[in-house]
This record gives sequence, C-alpha cells and structure tokens, in this order.
Amino acid sequence: MTHPFLDLAPLSADRFASIEDRVARLLGTGQDVVIMQGEALLPLEGAIRATAGPGTTALNVITGPYGQTFGDWLRDCGATVHDLAVPFHTAVTADRIRQALAEHPEIDFVSLVHAEAATGNTNPVAEIGEVVREHGALFYLDAVASVGAEPVLPDAWGVDLCVIGAQKAMGGPAGVSAVSVSERAWARMAANPRAPRRSYLSLLDWKERWIDGGRTTLLHAPAQLEMLALEACVERIEAEGLESVMARHAAAAAATRAGALALGGGLEPYVYEARDAAPVATTLRAPSGVLASELVARALRSDPTLPLAAGGGALAKEMIRVNHYGPNATPGAVQGSLAALGSALAEQGLEVDLESARQAVEGAWK
Ligand SMILES: *Cc1c(COP(=O)(O)O)cnc(C)c1O
Repeated sequence: MTHPFLDLAPLSADRFASIEDRVARLLGTGQDVVIMQGEALLPLEGAIRATAGPGTTALNVITGPYGQTFGDWLRDCGATVHDLAVPFHTAVTADRIRQALAEHPEIDFVSLVHAEAATGNTNPVAEIGEVVREHGALFYLDAVASVGAEPVLPDAWGVDLCVIGAQKAMGGPAGVSAVSVSERAWARMAANPRAPRRSYLSLLDWKERWIDGGRTTLLHAPAQLEMLALEACVERIEAEGLESVMARHAAAAAATRAGALALGGGLEPYVYEARDAAPVATTLRAPSGVLASELVARALRSDPTLPLAAGGGALAKEMIRVNHYGPNATPGAVQGSLAALGSALAEQGLEVDLESARQAVEGAWK
C-alpha cells in the first residue's frame, strides 16, 4: 500500500515554480519570489549576509527580539549599525525613522520587523516605506508574523527584501519560507564580494542557477512535504479569501483586547495603544504580584490546546501571549483563552468578571 507522506512522486520544477508564483500573488508582487528550503530564519539571515558588508551603514530598528538578532548579523557582516530601539509596548513611527536617516545620511540599509508575535506590536510599514524610499536605502522587512494577519505589500511599500513564513497567520508549515527580492537588492548582492555563494544561505545561487535559467532545474532536492503543505495552505487562503483571513485576525486581536479589559483582575494589554497592537497575536501584562509563566501554566491545565504562552526570556515574568493566529483566529479560541486566564486569576484570589469578558469578546468580534 502506498503511504500518503512517503511514497510521493518527485516535486517537479514546474510545480515548485507554480508555488512560488502563488506566493507572489498573495503578496501582490511582481518581484522575484524565492522559496527557501528552511524555516524563515534562513532567508532572514541569507538576505542580510547577501546585501550587507563592511561598506554598509544600516539603520536597524528594534521593536522586539528579532530586531536584536538582525543587528548581530549586520555587525557580523562588517556593517556599521545604528540601532533604533523602541520599548516593546509601543511601535516605531515614520518620524523616528526620518530623524535617524537625517542624523546619519550615509545609511543605505534599513532593517525592520513588521509585526512581532513575541511582543505583540506592529509597525506602520507603508509610512516607513515612503521615508526609506525617499532616502534611497535598501529596505529589508521581516513579515513572518504579519503575512495573513494584515496587509503585506512589498511593491506598494518599496520593500526590497520581504521575508515571510507560513507558520503564523497563514496557518501553514514552518519548514519552508519565502523572500521577495527587488532588482535593486539583486544588484546589491551581485556587487557584494562577501555574499554567500555555493552555500545553503545563498540567494544568489537561486538567482543564477534557478531564476536566470528560467526555473527549469532545482538546485537540490526540495523539502517536498513542506512544499506541498505550503501549496495547500495558500490554496486554503485563496479559498477563504485573503481579506477574510486578515479580518479574522483583526477581530481576534480586537476581541482579546476588549475581553482582557472587561475581565479585570489586573490584566492589561501589554501594547498600550490599540493601533500599535499586532493582529497576529495579543500580549497581555500579568497583574503585579502574579508570575505570567505560572498563570499561563495554570490556565493551560484546564485546556492544554489553548493558544496561550508566556513571553520569552525575561518577559516570562510579566507577559502573557494569546497566539490567536492561523486556525486559532476564532471566537472559540479567544473565548477559551480568556475564560481559562480568568479562572486562573480567580484561583489566585483576584476578582474577575468572566461574563463581562465573554460579552466583550462577542461584541468586539462583530
Ligand atoms: C515567528 C517569527 C519568526 C519565525 O520564528 P519562529 O520562532 O521560528 O516561528 C520570525 N520573525 C518574526 C517577527 C516572528 O514573529
């Protein structure tokens, strides 16, 4: 008997190219889209190593843990890096970027994370893109946590390197990822003697041996199962409609925020302003005297399938993450998460209003 995962026909170059085209359509881009055979960290690192070198001056915007990592890679490439860090409870503004570019006119590379699932904020990329384009710098964007949850429009926003992964709002696999690459970005790579070549990190290998060859011969055996899962996930988004997938995420974020406020017990949105809060996931601040990691563990005891997590690293003390993305961008997941958090707070002697929270979620969803 043939096994559904194991006995597959090889994935053809045509099929691979058609999956790339479908991802390009999802991003509304006419740029080249390369599907990389690894988790999103592969194109995130590959794109920096391909474009940055000792001659690069970068503005690295830090609104969460990923921005920190990008700065480390840029420095490792020999780039001069100006970090622009904003507190995790807020977002960066286009004005702050304009100011930083005016202070250091030699900046020729800007790295930014669109939305951060780890901190729950989202940055105004359309406005920032205008400022970066005006300045002429290459614009690198991590859209892993935003794609599927809110608009991601590399062409309209002037993004030169836009990295996405399917494992968050797209509800897809984590083992392959994609990057759209502008002509300017390809030229920067071609001119960079340190850009990886004949390497798993290399974007230029894909350009020269896959794209320029008319996408007829793959560089190596593709991650076949993950490619099929990516195709299925894009198909499912197309069937539901991207607009309605994004609307589900926006509703989940608004409902979680409203529900948490109505619940009481000292629980508060971690991101102060609703406009800075990411549709992909909502972060909450635990009441003083309550450890977020303990509260989450207690809440998960009632239902381990709920999309709840404590913040990473030092944030585990104070931050609760409601990961209402992909299949969890539903009223049920949000209601269940707040009810479980409410019960856990009540067990610790805090006063909560479960019924108000339930009604607030219901009201905000519409
Ligand atoms: C989730 C995420 C990634 C991918 O990281 P994983 O932890 O492997 O899922 C990359 N960038 C951002 C901003 C993310 O939120």
